[in-house]
Amino acid sequence: MSRGIIVLDAGHGQFGNPYPLLENTYEGTQNFLLAGKLKACLEAKGFTVLLTRNRIEDDPSLEERGKLAGDNHAVLFLSIHSNAPGSATSKEAYHAVRGSEVYYSLADVERNAEIARALNAAVVTTMNTTDRGIKTRTYPDQPGINYYGVLRHSAAYGCPTAFIIEHGFHTNPEDAAFLASDECLQRLAEAEAEVIDRVL
Ligand SMILES: [Zn+2]
Repeated sequence: MSRGIIVLDAGHGQFGNPYPLLENTYEGTQNFLLAGKLKACLEAKGFTVLLTRNRIEDDPSLEERGKLAGDNHAVLFLSIHSNAPGSATSKEAYHAVRGSEVYYSLADVERNAEIARALNAAVVTTMNTTDRGIKTRTYPDQPGINYYGVLRHSAAYGCPTAFIIEHGFHTNPEDAAFLASDECLQRLAEAEAEVIDRVL
């Protein structure tokens, strides 16, 4: 019997967010590869896994991504990303900033904070990168409403257990080298599946 449905959301489309330091490498593609590996690890642990992108070229709207989790009564929605510095970052800092952070849904703060902490710790350890902590972000002037679309729509359609993992910075040479490696993505998938197996 299935332990429940998990929705994995590989952020962006195939050519979303090119890595500035590596040729022909895109956040949207590496997110898709990691989601596929994590799917296999979670299925081996007895979960049923649905993907928001079944083909690498798929790029559904943020609402469609969150809706898939709500409509299927997912026990967990995980949006897979890597990060880039904001436009205010200086040229010197642009490639230096690195590290992992996890945003969690405001729809179930206490439980989600605990799960976010465990997921982020696993990513920090596996990537051997900086710990940027766990975070929430609220919609301007609407306290309690998630700023990020996938978390907002997941909650609205009925899945409160929702996260965005920013797996390091694809703008940083060390984080990018890790994320561009198939073998490293496999280690990341195994580490995350172990956490999910433990906390759900
Ligand atoms: Zn992203």
